[in-house]
Amino acid sequence: MGQTASNPVLSTLRLFKSEYDAHVFDKKCPAHVCKNLLTYSIEAELCRKCGLCARNCPTSAITGVLGKEVYVIDPAKCIRCGACMTACRFGAVLRG
Ligand code: SF4
Ligand code: SF4
Repeated sequence: MGQTASNPVLSTLRLFKSEYDAHVFDKKCPAHVCKNLLTYSIEAELCRKCGLCARNCPTSAITGVLGKEVYVIDPAKCIRCGACMTACRFGAVLRG
């Protein structure tokens, strides 16, 4: 069994090389499954300055001025919970 133990890993390396490359080299998870590799940002062009995302953020990572200023996410405070994305009705929160 010892000689075949590595087969599952070798198979995934062969069949899903792009997934490995994305995780190891780009620090991205294309399937948006690995929470630690996710990033959230707000697309300024789409933001309607409603503040709903900020009100739903558990760590106060989002700042802006209601009705006046586009809202922005502080990546240092973001815990990648996705609540802002769920709250935004305008598709302005992007997940990378
Ligand atoms: S909920 Fe969406 S539209 Fe409203 S401030 Fe946040 S990002 Fe902008
Ligand atoms: S993903 Fe969660 S913690 Fe990060 S900005 Fe959005 S609501 Fe806040």
